[in-house]
Amino acid sequence: MNNTSILVIYTGGTIGMKQDPEDLTLKPFNFEQIVEEVPELRKFGCRIDSYTFDPIIDSSDVDADFWIRLAGIIEEKYDGYDGFVVLHGTDTMSYSASMLSFMLENLEKPVIFTGSQLPIGVPRTDGKENLISAIEIACAKDSDGNAMVPEVCIFFDSALMRGNRTTKYSAEEFKAFVSPNYPTLAEAGINIKYHLPFIYGHGERGKKLVVHKKLDPSAAIIKIYPGITSAILENALKMPGLRGIVLETFGSGNAPSGEWFIKSIREASEKGLVIVNVTQCMTGSVNMGVYATGMGLKCAGVANGHDSTTESAITKLFFLMGQYSDNHIVRQQFEINLRGEISK
Ligand code: ASP
Repeated sequence: MNNTSILVIYTGGTIGMKQDPEDLTLKPFNFEQIVEEVPELRKFGCRIDSYTFDPIIDSSDVDADFWIRLAGIIEEKYDGYDGFVVLHGTDTMSYSASMLSFMLENLEKPVIFTGSQLPIGVPRTDGKENLISAIEIACAKDSDGNAMVPEVCIFFDSALMRGNRTTKYSAEEFKAFVSPNYPTLAEAGINIKYHLPFIYGHGERGKKLVVHKKLDPSAAIIKIYPGITSAILENALKMPGLRGIVLETFGSGNAPSGEWFIKSIREASEKGLVIVNVTQCMTGSVNMGVYATGMGLKCAGVANGHDSTTESAITKLFFLMGQYSDNHIVRQQFEINLRGEISK
């Protein structure tokens, strides 16, 4: 056995669920039972410890407190392990991976999220291969002994992706996640092939990990659609306590051009609401200079979300609003590439 050590943090999700014979619903079981289902874990040449969340949750119940706990565990155990694997439900995995990427500054060790579409106990499960490869990636070092992937990632169906670039793409296929605007970081075939030029964090080393545990979830997502009424938009922008909005717009960042629309956005922005523009399209980027309808938003004070996913944009707002009480700074910081989440 070599001296590499990995901590598997089990939070819940389908990967660790079993069918309850009484009501036939899927219910979580504990990590020791996962090891029984995947005896290969005992054959790894490294030390694998586990930490189980109490309670184990379906990822639909993820919230700011969950992220703070998860980041806190990684902070507490950081010096004792070479890498971390987080077993998490697929439904909100992209949100959690995005959020952790912002919370963990100067990360020099891998934090690999994975899970599965089928529970680990069923014969055709995708959970075994996802878990085993995620652990192997968390163990991987370069020739200088540094972590190969010092990033928060998602490993799923043979692909390693930057966490804050992913989105859940299928409720059915084993390929549950895609990284539409950024190349995969590695692919697992007979060998695991790392695409080093795309992997973040190989720059300056030796900085101390900073774990940001103040989050402010006073932001919402508004998806624009043809037919949206002024009453709906105005009321949404006036939600009490609201500090930020992720506006999911059409195409390259366009929205209705009617005066009522731009006026509502401008007034909300002038009152200090941070409004950020991301596209509803799966690929591509916001460019508010292309069409008059996009330009209207820019002039009304809307920030450019570039090619950010919605998952990354909303968690980045929670993170920035937790760091800064001044919404002008939040707006300014939002347009900056913090953890490789936007191409800029
Ligand atoms: N509902 C589950 C969860 O996200 C789905 C899954 O893990 O695939 O926790």
